[in-house]
Amino acid sequence: MSKNILKLTGIAIALSLTGNAYAAYPERPITLVVPFAAGGPTDVVARTLGAELGKILNQPIVVENKTGAGGTVAANHIAQSKPDGYTYFLHHNGMSTAPALYKNLKYDPLSSFEYVGEVVDVPMTLLARADLPPNNMQEFIEYAKQNGENINLANAGPGAVSQLCGSLLQQALGVKFTTIPYQGTAPAMSALLGKQVDVLCDQTTQTIPHIDAKTVKFYGVTTKDRISKLPDAPTLHEQGLKDFDVKVWHGIYAPKGTPEAVITTFNTALKQALKTDAFKNKMADLGAEIVSEERQSPESLKAWVESEIKKWGPILQAEGMNVN
Ligand code: ASP
Repeated sequence: MSKNILKLTGIAIALSLTGNAYAAYPERPITLVVPFAAGGPTDVVARTLGAELGKILNQPIVVENKTGAGGTVAANHIAQSKPDGYTYFLHHNGMSTAPALYKNLKYDPLSSFEYVGEVVDVPMTLLARADLPPNNMQEFIEYAKQNGENINLANAGPGAVSQLCGSLLQQALGVKFTTIPYQGTAPAMSALLGKQVDVLCDQTTQTIPHIDAKTVKFYGVTTKDRISKLPDAPTLHEQGLKDFDVKVWHGIYAPKGTPEAVITTFNTALKQALKTDAFKNKMADLGAEIVSEERQSPESLKAWVESEIKKWGPILQAEGMNVN
């Protein structure tokens, strides 16, 4: 090959890697990583969203569950993944609580990722196994004070919102339970249904069918206000746990360095997916609330994570909740 042809080929390759490299994006399946077990509340949001995103982007969205250490294993995996637009991450509050909980975190929530946008807010519910003696929150408060460490509280590990909710509950009641961590609240819920654990705090996206079927005892909603999906269910706040207010929020991230054009394409698809009837109906059935269009932007999600890090860092540190 002559020197000139070599030079021209070089220019063509350079062009295809910059300007037009992503004109046909996406050209193959996209992976959406979920940091908790399959079948759980984060997973159900990812799979419902993935189905709609797949139709919009014309490529399958493959959900991959990468569990461990309250979501930090998956976050670390994303931070080290190729920034080529084919790997995304759906995570929740754990993105902002991890720095205070894990001293040796190998990624920085604010600088190791590209931000895509927020998805849904999900309230939590406080549940107990069907044969735990207390029938309501007042009875549970008494029972908790009498039985303390004999009560087994399931959660999805440090960094999970089930853990945060359970910790705030113990703090509000002035008791200490025995904590049993799982790889997500899907297995934690199986343990509750199997009566191997006593109590679980978890998202409505997983708990509503069990509340409806009365296969669990249901003591209240963890948000400060009642929720439209369960209008008759009292909040923990109104049942004596003053100002108790925990909700789960979900955002989407990509590895740092993912091209801006790609993020824009994915964000546009995300906004479209959040407007589909399939997504809206499923989320409404499960008590989840789609965030406002303003919150669906990368900038808004980043500002939110930053404010949540500032909010939870001192609280978690004061509680001595760090794990290493
Ligand atoms: N519900 C979990 C949590 O406590 C996560 C999950 O399994 O989706 O954060």
